[in-house]
This record gives sequence, C-alpha cells and structure tokens, in this order.
Amino acid sequence: MKTTMNAEFIEAIRSNMKGSVVPGAPMSAHTTYRTGGAAKILAVPDNSWELERVCRFAVRERIPLVIIGAGSNVIAADGGIDGLVVCTKAGTAALDIYEDGTVAADCGIMLEDLIRRCASRGFGGLDGVAGIPGTVGGAVVMNAGTDEGNISDCIESVEVITSSGRTETLAKADLGFGYRRSLFSGGGFVVLRVRFKLPAGDGRAILNNIDRVWRERAGKFPLDYPNAGSVFKRPEGGYAGRLIEKAGCKGMRVGGAMVSERHANFIVNTGGATSSDITALIEKVRARVRETMGVDLELEQILL
Ligand SMILES: Cc1cc2nc3c(=O)[nH]c(=O)nc-3n(C[C@H](O)[C@H](O)[C@H](O)COP(=O)(O)OP(=O)(O)OC[C@H]3O[C@@H](n4cnc5c(N)ncnc54)[C@H](O)[C@@H]3O)c2cc1C
Repeated sequence: MKTTMNAEFIEAIRSNMKGSVVPGAPMSAHTTYRTGGAAKILAVPDNSWELERVCRFAVRERIPLVIIGAGSNVIAADGGIDGLVVCTKAGTAALDIYEDGTVAADCGIMLEDLIRRCASRGFGGLDGVAGIPGTVGGAVVMNAGTDEGNISDCIESVEVITSSGRTETLAKADLGFGYRRSLFSGGGFVVLRVRFKLPAGDGRAILNNIDRVWRERAGKFPLDYPNAGSVFKRPEGGYAGRLIEKAGCKGMRVGGAMVSERHANFIVNTGGATSSDITALIEKVRARVRETMGVDLELEQILL
C-alpha cells in the first residue's frame, strides 16, 4: 500500500527541522552506486537534535522510515522508496574525545573523520575500519570492518531510538555483534550516537598506518567506478571474490552493471546502471557460483 504523505505531512516534517526536506529526491544522489529512484520525502537534518526530533515524529505518526548514512552499502530500488528517508551524513555531527580515551560520536560522523581526529589526539584501536567510506551509524548497523578488526571492537554502548519511539542506551553485550551483523541489521532502530573506549597510542604511527591502509585499498579496489564495496559476505573458510573469480564471473554484465575485473566481489556501475541491473547481476553471479563451486553466497549489501 502506498503511503499517503500529502502537503500537510510534508509541512509537519519541515516544522520539526531546519535542514532540507525534499519530496521526490533521487536516491541516486545519496548512494555510492549512484542508482535508485525517488524517495517520497528525503530529509537531511542539520544536527543530531533535529535528527532525533524528525525520527521520533516519524515513529509517532507511523510513517515508514529509512535511515541512510553515506549510502555506501545499499541498493535503493529503482521504483523509489515509499516513505521518509533520513540522511544523517550531511548535517553537523558532534564528536567528543575525552582524556581517558572515551569518545562520543554522533551517527553522521564519517569513519575517516572519526579515526583521524582520534589519532590526532593520540587514540587508536579503529585501524580495522580505516578506508571504509561510511558513517559511524552505518558502520555500527553493519558491524563494518576488515581482517584487521571491526567497529564493534572498541564500542562501549550505543544510544538508539527504538521502534516504539523511546530513546535507550544499549550496552555492547546487548548489541548482537557478529560478522557484518548487529541487533540493528533488521531495521527498527535509529542509531543516534556511539560511545567508544579507545586505547592510547602514538598518534603519528596511527596516522601513518591509516595512510598505508588507504594506499593498499586504492590498489586493490575498483574505486574509479561507483560501487558499494563487497557484494557478498565472506563464506565459511574462504573469500567470496576468489570463488566468483574461479567461477568465471569477472567482467560479467547486466546493462551498465559489471563484475569488476579488478576485484570480483565488487559490482561497478560502468555508467547508466540501474539498481535492477545490479540485482539481476547479483542473482546471475550467485547462480553461477552455486552451480560451479557448490557455495551459496550471502548478500552483504542492503536492499532498500
Ligand atoms: C569502496 C568501498 C569499500 C568498502 N569497504 C568496506 C570494508 O572494507 N568493510 C566493510 O565492512 N564495509 C565496506 N564497505 C561498505 C560500507 O562502506 C560499510 O558497510 C559502511 O559502514 C556503511 O556505512 P554507511 O553510512 O554508508 O551506511 P549506509 O550504506 O547508508 O546504510 C547501511 C545500513 O545501515 C542503516 N543505517 C545507516 N545509518 C543508520 C542509523 N544512523 N541508524 C539506523 N540505521 C542506519 C541503513 O538503513 C542500511 O540498512 C565499503 C564500501 C565501499 C563503497
């Protein structure tokens, strides 16, 4: 059923925030794949106070609500999103770093900003997420990370809005972190801010390590085309990219979407791809890997 969001509703959302509220905004402008149809309404709060207010309003009014950060792990439907999409990335987000290594970060802070600002104050522990182009909120939902560690490693607690509109602080033990999953993976929560406890270290060495990770990633990943990182999760005992390559899928195409020649677990938008091209290609790759390698790959990216 289509959501009724008339002019009155849009005005009510506007009255909750100074940031932009745009009916029919293209999701392609807010996802790193550069694909996706229009959001019924896209709201970009100016700050965390507005974010909280508009999300609580949506929960109270039972408006379907989708939160996105940098849109770097999502595939937005070509038919658009029938609800309110709130983008946390563009607003002013607070980051407080304390002497004892406690850090409070709003969900809209970019990981790179978080890591570099903490490093410049002599705190490390987040090298595992260096080079990941997402926000703190998106990273917590996905439990983003690499072989060097995950965002969950240094988390103490997360402040959220629950599906009933309450603000709660949840301790790490209750957050269900696992490989690329968390309590929040199924939706139903707004991650507002995250509290980390970071180990002290040599700031210069931490920054040098971050630069090394960036250089290595630039050589490994197809960053010259729009993409959303790894398409599939790592299967038991192996790497999805190796299986996809062995199955002969590199260079496979549907429309403007192509399995990267550089890294087989990346699908790139070579120009003019739609989200349907990407999802059709995902299904082709999955079927080929199942037939030839006997492995069922699990999607890491989130379909919106
Ligand atoms: C070039 C490239 C390389 C990448 N490399 C890695 C990597 O090495 N490791 C890795 O783990 N990932 C990687 N990714 C994927 C992606 O960057 C991470 O998953 C990142 O943490 C997603 O953050 P985001 O802000 O973009 O989230 P989005 O893509 O915007 O959202 C991801 C999910 O989180 C939800 N969400 C976002 N913010 C909130 C919030 N505040 N409250 C509630 N729900 C929210 C969304 O609804 C969606 O379900 C890569 C992506 C790219 C493009």
